[in-house]
Amino acid sequence: MADNCVFCKIIRGELPSFKVYEDDKTLAFLDIHPISAGHTLVIPKAETARNIFDVTPEDWMATTETARKVAHALEKAMHADGVNIMMNNREHAGQVVDHPHIHVIPRYKGDGLGQWQHKAYKEGEANSIKEKIRSAL
Ligand code: 5GP
Repeated sequence: MADNCVFCKIIRGELPSFKVYEDDKTLAFLDIHPISAGHTLVIPKAETARNIFDVTPEDWMATTETARKVAHALEKAMHADGVNIMMNNREHAGQVVDHPHIHVIPRYKGDGLGQWQHKAYKEGEANSIKEKIRSAL
């Protein structure tokens, strides 16, 4: 896979990590530079994909199920008021490590991390975009 796949090295045990969960298909470990304490990365163990565009449905399902479990654990262990679950896919969406990974981030009332800015559709725009997406599915 990609030269910058540090997560492949973590899977193989060639780099250390703080593992919070592991099963036959997935691994969850602490992000080295957390947005908040407990920020966890959930990855498929298969070293065959880079992101959402080439991960297999089986690995994706296993990875999202582990993310769900981790979200519950963070609520309990870190007393999080909520969690963000997000994924960056490809460079211009902020992906730095070329191995699929889901961020599970504890959030707290008043933590100041904010939300993305939203904007409004122009007249008729939502309908034409909906049609484009529907025909791509
Ligand atoms: P991306 O921007 O690709 O969605 O996120 C990559 C994440 O991986 C970043 O949040 C970064 O802090 C984390 N990261 C990068 N290298 C390492 C590493 O060697 N170990 C761990 N645990 N996390 C890493």
